[in-house]
Amino acid sequence: MKRMRAAVLRDIGQPMTLEEVRLDSPHAGEVLVRVAAAGVCHSDLLFAEGGLGTKRLPIVLGHEGAGVVEAVGEGVTQVAAGDHVSFSIVPFCGVCRACRNGEVTLCEPSGEYAYRGTMLDGTMRLQSADGSSLKHFNFVSCFAEYAVVPEASAIPIPRALPLWEAALVGCGVITGFGAVRNVAKVKPGESVCVIGCGGVGLQVVAAAQRAGARPIIAVDRSQEKLDRALAMGASDGVDASRDGAVGRIRELSGGGVDHAIEVVGIAATIRQAWDVLRPGATAVVVGLAPRGLEVSIPAIELLSAKGLKGCFYGSGNPRADIPQLAQMVVDGKLPLREVVSDFTDLQGIDEAFDRMRRGVGARTIVVIDAAVAGAPAT
Ligand SMILES: [Zn+2]
Ligand SMILES: [Zn+2]
Repeated sequence: MKRMRAAVLRDIGQPMTLEEVRLDSPHAGEVLVRVAAAGVCHSDLLFAEGGLGTKRLPIVLGHEGAGVVEAVGEGVTQVAAGDHVSFSIVPFCGVCRACRNGEVTLCEPSGEYAYRGTMLDGTMRLQSADGSSLKHFNFVSCFAEYAVVPEASAIPIPRALPLWEAALVGCGVITGFGAVRNVAKVKPGESVCVIGCGGVGLQVVAAAQRAGARPIIAVDRSQEKLDRALAMGASDGVDASRDGAVGRIRELSGGGVDHAIEVVGIAATIRQAWDVLRPGATAVVVGLAPRGLEVSIPAIELLSAKGLKGCFYGSGNPRADIPQLAQMVVDGKLPLREVVSDFTDLQGIDEAFDRMRRGVGARTIVVIDAAVAGAPAT
């Protein structure tokens, strides 16, 4: 058992408290990781605001992170102490119906136990100082100095990749790239509209650019985010707060886009993704919407063979995709410095949430172990 510091969310809508908590040793098939860095993702904020339900409390949030393996439980064969790993939020089983169909991000036990806030055996490794259990967030809970995760959630990455960059690969990058490569399947010369240019949206822009898309139309209410999108390879920026945004996008794409990728998760932007499509095209919704949200579309337009498709965690194979994307970063093909606006520590997560609520900046990286995170001086 370890004692460590972790940011604990005790109640919805409350700030997190930095607490000394306990972490059990890894059980069979689990891995203990010393966390180097964690990204603050919109899903963490959505949880803290109650948009993902209120049952998994108290909890240690954080699901986008990377670190160094410190110890492994019985039977672990894929990683060893000293390995650098990026966390995957889907420790897919390989044998359930979804896994057998090749849709591993929809793995049934992964979904079930993530929703319960436990490890894959239904129990927890995290406890408060008084011994009461704390819930896990998507098996990762990396707003903490250490994490015990299932073996399949600890994906080995090249040592050459700085760990603060590796943190981003495990959610923002895999989600954004997956939407473009695995779901939209963007081809060279096709037009792409990216609605929402935060941490994931910027990765969608980067992936569309690598796929050879043209034009790549970035849409956001913030000029700062549009500027970042243009720097990441967008050809045009459209200010969504102005009237006529849909018309402008349709005009830029010659009458409707081949692909609209929505990365916000609210009704107005999902509808906007639908409205900018050319006949026969499909909108991909990446944005995580709060429970209960409904979206309406004009049903007559189904006659034009338009489609609306969901996507989760890139809809690919995290075990293959994370190392491959990590290597792209190492090779200089995917600059991540541009998507990070702030570096902070475990105490600074609530401020990062606040920036996200106000739409200010891009990704915040929580540097937890500065000695190994390799973060640039700020
Ligand atoms: Zn995320
Ligand atoms: Zn499965």
